[in-house]
Amino acid sequence: MASFFPTALENLIDKFAMLPGIGKKSAQRLAFFVLGLPEGEAESFADAIIAARATVHTCVVCQNLTDAEICPICASEKRDRSQICVVAEPRDVASIERGREYNGLYHVLHGVLSPLSHIGPDDLRISELVSRVSAGGVEEVIMALNPDTEGETTSMYISRLIKPFGVKVTRLAYGIPVGSNLEFADDATLQRALEGRVEM
Ligand SMILES: [Zn+2]
Repeated sequence: MASFFPTALENLIDKFAMLPGIGKKSAQRLAFFVLGLPEGEAESFADAIIAARATVHTCVVCQNLTDAEICPICASEKRDRSQICVVAEPRDVASIERGREYNGLYHVLHGVLSPLSHIGPDDLRISELVSRVSAGGVEEVIMALNPDTEGETTSMYISRLIKPFGVKVTRLAYGIPVGSNLEFADDATLQRALEGRVEM
């Protein structure tokens, strides 16, 4: 397709079009918006991307995003080290932390098992979780994945791997409507799901 835009603008549109949920039309709109920003604003926008990419990485323990080697939750002496709450994404940690009730540690998988999308155990941070559990000191692992097929499959898979280490494996109670996202569960619902967790 012939381009009607200068190369640099065309490139910018292509970059925006790479973002999830952004089609070609939206990408054009965003690119024009950026072009219309004062020069300093546009620069700080680009700098924010570079800085985030350079400083944010995963915690060596829980795999959550952090700018330190070990994240503040793993490093805190106030957290209960006998509990690990397993979540799919970093944003799920934020959802549970907002409730201010859970005081254990986390483990972020960075996805769930999905045969259809070719996401297998090696694509997730599952072996890191098994290492943590096998190192001892963990009494309970709480599976806090979305109550959909992929979340269920992932919970079952992990449960089978870690139960042999003698830990109690629980899952959230289904106060969360089936098929919904943890992210959208309100704090009270999430809190009830956590309190009413059941053994797997
Ligand atoms: Zn951590």
